[in-house]
Amino acid sequence: MTDCPFCAIIAGRLPASIVHRDDVCTAFLDIRPVNPGHTLVVPNAHAAHLADVPPETGGPLFRTAQRVAAALRTSGVRCEGVNFWLADGEAAGQEVMHVHLHVVPRYRGDGFGIRPGPTYGHTPSRETLDALAERIRAGLG
Ligand SMILES: [Zn+2]
Repeated sequence: MTDCPFCAIIAGRLPASIVHRDDVCTAFLDIRPVNPGHTLVVPNAHAAHLADVPPETGGPLFRTAQRVAAALRTSGVRCEGVNFWLADGEAAGQEVMHVHLHVVPRYRGDGFGIRPGPTYGHTPSRETLDALAERIRAGLG
């Protein structure tokens, strides 16, 4: 995709600080890091949304993120924990429409967090949970 910045990085048309590259995915540092070492893992083939990522790509993508997380912990980067973050869709906060899995090194007091919405903390009834689970199971086919 010609106007996709991540495709441009993968093609070498935009600079990036590459952490890992193989036939399936590329990992590079986020230019607006939450914390130093914040890395993005992206499929090499353009896919706007998670549903567009083929199954044979999803596994290696996650495996690469696992490896990056392990490397962060031994790299000297301040890293007491790691968050994976994948925003799928604009409503979820996706800003670049090329699937990317954030690997965020975390440490106590870094100030980063997820702010829950107003319904958080309310535990639905078992009947409500079961009905939702049934709908999701139906979606799995
Ligand atoms: Zn792209």
